[in-house]
Amino acid sequence: MSIYLSIVIPAYNEAPVLDQFLPSLYCALAELPDQQEIVIVDDGSRDNLREVFQAHLAACPAHIALRLVQLSRNFGKEAALSAGLANTQGRIVAMMDADGQHPISVLQEMLALNQQGIDMVVGVQANRSHESWLARSLKRGFYHFMQDTHRYEIKPNAGDFRLMSRKVVDALLALPERQRFMKGLYAWVGFKPCMFRLRRMSVRMARASAKPRIVLTRP
Ligand code: UDP
Ligand code: MG
Repeated sequence: MSIYLSIVIPAYNEAPVLDQFLPSLYCALAELPDQQEIVIVDDGSRDNLREVFQAHLAACPAHIALRLVQLSRNFGKEAALSAGLANTQGRIVAMMDADGQHPISVLQEMLALNQQGIDMVVGVQANRSHESWLARSLKRGFYHFMQDTHRYEIKPNAGDFRLMSRKVVDALLALPERQRFMKGLYAWVGFKPCMFRLRRMSVRMARASAKPRIVLTRP
């Protein structure tokens, strides 16, 4: 079976959100050639994500292979992404969050750039005005200190919403790191990225059982 596009979705306690998100994704994928696959990585969720997956398995369109990678506990997004990538077969691989923050509507444009020969198309959150001054300053400082600008650059504001050719995915998977900082590894493998400017990202849909945490964004 020839899989054109794989979409990796890391998910931690996202059952209700994913339930809403998947049908929109099915619609977007209906336009594409060949088969597609959606690889959901359950990063040790404590909600009913598995049941939601089972329900979608029955209802998923025939041109989409819906798959679940079940991690034994919560490892964090970086590890979940790596586990997802390792379980893809597509000629192109995209990564999207489960919470609806990454706009499905731009997938076609990102795919068109890939068709033009760009192996790494990166969604860039250009407008961070919804974040506090403190959050923006801390992030700026972090990226400043992480750079090795002679050899590679970790692009600020470039997250994990990306579309990659199979050769980039294979290069990422070949790296032996076990504690993986994905934004560093994307830069390290060295394929010239194309920055795809995102209009403001959507607000995350509510996570079912998220622990309270300090949020460095404006109310
Ligand atoms: N996520 C995960 N494991 C975690 C935390 C988050 O797989 O331990 C997933 C989460 O379900 C979502 C994505 O990673 O699909 C981004 O998480 P979140 O929305 O919390 O991060 P942010 O939007 O603040 O970057
Ligand atoms: Mg989010």
